[in-house]
Amino acid sequence: MIYLCAISNISSGNCSEDCKFCTQSAHYNVGIEKYKEKSIDEVIKEAKLAKANKAVGFCLVTAGKGLTDKKLEYVCEVAFAVKKEVDISLIGCNGTAIKEQLIELKKAGIKNYNHNLETSKEFYENICTTHSWDERFETCLNVQEVGLNLCTGGILGLGESEKDRYSMLESIKELNPMSIPLNFFIPNEKLPLTKTKITKEEALFWISEYRKTLPETMIMLAGGRELMFEDKWIEALRAGANSIVIGNYLTIKGEIANKDIQMLTKYNYQIAKSCQ
Ligand code: SF4
Repeated sequence: MIYLCAISNISSGNCSEDCKFCTQSAHYNVGIEKYKEKSIDEVIKEAKLAKANKAVGFCLVTAGKGLTDKKLEYVCEVAFAVKKEVDISLIGCNGTAIKEQLIELKKAGIKNYNHNLETSKEFYENICTTHSWDERFETCLNVQEVGLNLCTGGILGLGESEKDRYSMLESIKELNPMSIPLNFFIPNEKLPLTKTKITKEEALFWISEYRKTLPETMIMLAGGRELMFEDKWIEALRAGANSIVIGNYLTIKGEIANKDIQMLTKYNYQIAKSCQ
């Protein structure tokens, strides 16, 4: 069974943080489209399209380190509006968050919260100097403590060692999330990191390591799927992934949803009709 999930970047760019892999950081001049708040009508339209494309989850993503009062209010407003119009499971992805903020999101109809560890605790200072890995881990704990389902994963190919990859896996195992989004770094010449340091074979190996370690957890192929596997991403499902992001990513266009669905059908994968 394969779970499809769609993403909407409801607030894009101008982030104060210096994550070296991220096109939304204000520290690098990547030239992405930037906006503070996407119109609610536009988000509802995207949620309807996601539902039509068989997505069971719809993720409301905001750039920035975490939630401010104003941002929280906006995300809650969007969540309420989408929930009213579209029967789809909502995921919040709004950076570091304290329990009180997460409780508000929950009241607005958000069921799951995505906050990636990104990489290992030990390697984190090499990819971000403006906040700590511990803060990220704490948000993940907050998510679980308020009774939201946790989605947490990271990015492979940032220059981390094998030891770092095992360390991130161990941390994720400790959190035992509902879903693990695995991203494969997408290089950009305007970012400090310009090369992906992972091969397709390594990527398949790590997906299978995640599957072996967390047999019951949803493992999602997220950003970088096309670059890493091209049209052979079915191999990543064989290695243990059971979820994909369908449609566009945060600042990069994804595969055409129909093409993905056709591929799944061709290889006899069933598409889930609801979340786990
Ligand atoms: S905090 Fe999030 S949005 Fe900001 S630079 Fe880091 S990854 Fe990008």
